Amino acid sequence: MTNKASTVIVSNRLPVSVKRGEKGLEFEASSGGLATAMSSLEADNKVWIGWPGIDAETLSDEERTEITEKLQEQGCFPVWLTAKEVELYYEGYANDTLWPLFHYFQNVAQYSDDYWAAYQTVNEKFAKATAEASREDAKIWIQDYHFLLLPQLLRSELPSSTIGFFLHIPFPNFEIYRLFPPRKDLLEGLLGAAVIGFHIYDYTQHFLDSCRRLLGLPSSNGVIEYRQRAIKAATYPIGIDYGKFRSQLETKDTKDALKQLKETYDKQKLILSVDRLDYSKGIPQRLEAFRLLLEAHPEYIGKVKLLMVAVPSRTGVAAYQQLRDEIEKTVSRINGTYGTVDWAPISYQFQNRPFSELVALYALADVMLVTPIRDGMNLVAKEYIASKKRRNGVLILSEMAGAIDELPEAISINPNNTQSVANAIDQALSMPAREQKERLSAMRTRISKVTVQNWGQEFMNDLSDATEQGGTSRRQLTTAQQQRVATLFQTAKRRLIILDYDGTLRGFVKTPSPLAATPTLRIWRVLKALTDQPNTTVAIVSGRTKRALSSWFVGLPLVLAAEHGAWRRYGKKWQKTDSDFKKDKKRIREVMQKYSDRTKGAEIEEKDHALVWHYTNVEPEIAFRRASELRQELAELLAEEDISVHEGRNIVEVKPSSITKGMVVRELCREYPADFILCAGDDYTDEDMFRELRDNPDATTIKVGQNSDTMAQHTVQKPVNVLKLLEEITPSGSLPAFTELPRKIPKVPGKLKRWLQRKK
Ligand code: UDP
Repeated sequence: MTNKASTVIVSNRLPVSVKRGEKGLEFEASSGGLATAMSSLEADNKVWIGWPGIDAETLSDEERTEITEKLQEQGCFPVWLTAKEVELYYEGYANDTLWPLFHYFQNVAQYSDDYWAAYQTVNEKFAKATAEASREDAKIWIQDYHFLLLPQLLRSELPSSTIGFFLHIPFPNFEIYRLFPPRKDLLEGLLGAAVIGFHIYDYTQHFLDSCRRLLGLPSSNGVIEYRQRAIKAATYPIGIDYGKFRSQLETKDTKDALKQLKETYDKQKLILSVDRLDYSKGIPQRLEAFRLLLEAHPEYIGKVKLLMVAVPSRTGVAAYQQLRDEIEKTVSRINGTYGTVDWAPISYQFQNRPFSELVALYALADVMLVTPIRDGMNLVAKEYIASKKRRNGVLILSEMAGAIDELPEAISINPNNTQSVANAIDQALSMPAREQKERLSAMRTRISKVTVQNWGQEFMNDLSDATEQGGTSRRQLTTAQQQRVATLFQTAKRRLIILDYDGTLRGFVKTPSPLAATPTLRIWRVLKALTDQPNTTVAIVSGRTKRALSSWFVGLPLVLAAEHGAWRRYGKKWQKTDSDFKKDKKRIREVMQKYSDRTKGAEIEEKDHALVWHYTNVEPEIAFRRASELRQELAELLAEEDISVHEGRNIVEVKPSSITKGMVVRELCREYPADFILCAGDDYTDEDMFRELRDNPDATTIKVGQNSDTMAQHTVQKPVNVLKLLEEITPSGSLPAFTELPRKIPKVPGKLKRWLQRKK
C-alpha cells in the first residue's frame, strides 16, 4: 500500500459490506454509532480496517482487487477471511466463548481448541493487514472482544505505533475471568496497547484486578507498568449520535410512521422493548414480568400492548436458535392465555426496523423496557431518551446495564426479580406526567452532552497523549536534560547526591537476603568515582538494614541511612532515632506469621524499626489477596498507634510513622548544604524524599519506573538509566574503563576493597 494511514480504526466488520448480487459485487454502507464516531474524528489520513463480510474463498484475484480499490475510495482496507475462519473465530471463539463468559453466562460458554486456534490466526491476520495499511508511527484504535490478542501482535509488527483498545462489552470480575483457559494470554495481548478503554468504572477495575491477580501487575491510578511501558486503563462511556435522533424526529418519514403507529395502537398504552435477540438481554424474564403484571392487574387487559422488537442476531449460533424458539413459545402462550378476540397483549416482531420507524416507536412508547441480565452499555435506553420531544414516557432500566450509571432517573430494576419488574411497569403506567417530564429532562440533558462523537474524541485525545509520551512517562528524562544535570553538577560549588538502593541503583531480586542484592561492580565504580569528587556528598537512603548497607559499601565514604532513616551514618558511627516500635513488634510479627504460615513463598524480614512481609515468591493470584487482607488486619491492629502500614512492590511494610526518608533528606540538606542536589528513588517511600525537595530550586528529583504518578520532576525507565546518568555527571577521566575492571565481580566486599585500593 502506497499511502499509509496515520489514524487507523480496526473492527471486525467494515462500515461497508460487500455482497455478491445478480449484477456482480454490491457495496452497502452501514451507519452504526461507531461509524459516526469515527467519521467525526479529526484526522486527515484515516483508514478503517476490517472484514468486508464476504467469504474470501469465493473471490477471484480480480474481484479482490476491485473490492480493495472500491473500499479504498471509502477509506477502508479489507482483511480477507474465509467462511470457515468466520465460523470458528467470530461465531465460535468471539460469540460462543468470549461473549457468554464476559456477560457472566459461564454455562453457555463453549471451549474448543479449534475456536481458539482460529481466533489466534485471525488476530494475526489482522495484525499483518493493519501493519500493511498503517504508518510506522500511526495511532491505531482497535475495537472490541474479537481482538484481545491484537494489541500485542500489532506491537511486534509496528513497535513505534500507539495502540488503543476499547472493549464494548463488560469486563467480568476476576472470579469469572479466571475461568478462561487462555486468561493470561488474553491479558498479555491487551497489554500491548497504551490505552485500554471500558464503558464503566467497574469494568476498568475488574480488568485491573485481573492483571494484578493473574500477572502480578499492580496499578496506580489506573496505570500499569508492564515491560517498561505505562499502560492506561480508563473509563469512556459511549454515547449516541444525539443530533441524529433529534433531527430524525422532524423528518416526514418519522412523522408519517408516528401517525401510523398512533392509529394502530389507538388508545392502548404502548410498552416497547427493542434489542438484538440475545440471551444477555433478559427477554424470557421480561415476558414473565409482563405475564405477572397481567395476572395481578386484569384492569390492563385490552389497555396495554407490549411491542417487542427482537432484531435477528448470530443466527448461526445454537444458543441463539434455542432462545428464539423459547421466546416464540412463551409469546404464544401469554397471548393465548390473556388475549381476547380483538386484542393480543404482545406484538412480537423478529425483524430489523428501519431507523425512521424505530425513532417513531421510541417517540410514541409510554414505557420503554430495557431489562438485560448483563449489558456492556445499552444504547437503546439512551436512544429512547433522545427521541422524546413532545410526548412523555418512562424508562425502566436494568441495574446490570452499563447505562444505569448515566441514567439514574430511570426506574431501575433487577431483571431477575420478575415481580419487581412487573411492579415497575405498573408504577410507570401510573406515573404522573410531571414526574415523567422531570425525569426525562434530566436524562436528556446528560445524554445530549455525552455523545458518541465526544466519546471518540476523548479516547483519541488520550491516545495522542500516550503518543506524546512515547508510550512512556510524560516526564521521561531526555538526553538534553541529562546533559543539563551534568553541567549543573560540574559547575556547582557543593553537591549532594541522595540515592535509594533497591529498584534505583540495583534491579529487584527475588529474596530479601542482602546477599542476593550486593552492588554490582558498575554501581561500585560510579559511587567510588562520585565520592572521589571534591565537595561532594553521596548518601544512600534505603529501607535495608544497617548491616546490609555497611557490608555492601565497605571502604566507600558514603553517608548511609538504613531502615528509612531509623539509622544514619554520617561519619563512622551509626546514630539511631528513638522509637518505641519494639514494644509493638511481637504482635505485628504474630499477625505476619499467621499469614506466612498459610501462604507458600511468603517471607518475613525483621529490622530494628520495621517488619516487612515479602510476597515476591507467592503466586500472584493469592499474593495480592493475602497482602490486602494482611494490610487490613494490621491497619486495624495498629489503628491507635503511631505506626504506618504500607503496601509496596511485593511487600507489606510496617514501620513507625515518624521515620521517613523525607526526615532524612531534611537532615541531609541541613548537614550538607549544597547548590546541587540530585535525588533518585523508585517507590512510595521515596516519594517522601521528592516531597521534601519539591520546592528546592537546586534539586533534581528522579523516579525510576514508568508510572508517572510521582512527585519527582523526571522519570527514567530502569536502574541502568540512573547509573548512566551518574556516569554522565562524573567528570571525564574519573571513571575507570570497564576493561580495567576485574572480569568477575568480586563477591566479597573485602576483595573489592583491595582491588579499588590497588587502583589508587
Ligand atoms: N437497532 C437496529 N435495528 C433495529 C433496532 C435497533 O439496528 O431494528 C439498533 C439500536 O438502535 C441500537 C443497537 O441496535 O443502536 C443496539 O445497541 P445496544 O447497545 O442497545 O445493544 P447491543 O446490540 O450492542 O448489544
